Amino acid sequence: MITDLNNNLGKLNDIAKPYFTKFFSEIQSYVDEIIITGVIYSYADSVKLHNKDSRNPIWNFHEFGIAVDLNIRINNRRFVKADIIDDWIKTGVISDAEELGIRWGGRFNGYPDCVHFDIANILIKKYNLNNVYELISYLEDMAKNEFGNNLMTAELNRLTL
Ligand SMILES: [Zn+2]
Repeated sequence: MITDLNNNLGKLNDIAKPYFTKFFSEIQSYVDEIIITGVIYSYADSVKLHNKDSRNPIWNFHEFGIAVDLNIRINNRRFVKADIIDDWIKTGVISDAEELGIRWGGRFNGYPDCVHFDIANILIKKYNLNNVYELISYLEDMAKNEFGNNLMTAELNRLTL
């Protein structure tokens, strides 16, 4: 079971949809519920959500529509942001994500974010880039071509304009 799947997948950037669709269908064989808690946030919302002032390029990926925050439920236990990293790993969800190239926020240095999954590394490889900063520039250019601004996705444009 996945909460509001089509609506949530619809918010993603088109380039991200196939990867998350595959990931969700794989983990559905053993996860009772995938609860998508966030797809698109503006950068300002991310800073507020994480209660930090310093800019962090990781959070931009919700602006670009290439990241999903989710909880999972297995046997009546809901895995959330506050759960420890090892508990998330034991569910099997993380190895399935990483086999697909999906990056897990639980491995972020300094600010592990267990509910966060994104396809930054997949896109860095796909577009022959060197790091997340180059990816951000690349995605900004894509958004300028598509929407005439740097808001990254149609969904964020809809929310903002
Ligand atoms: Zn996130």
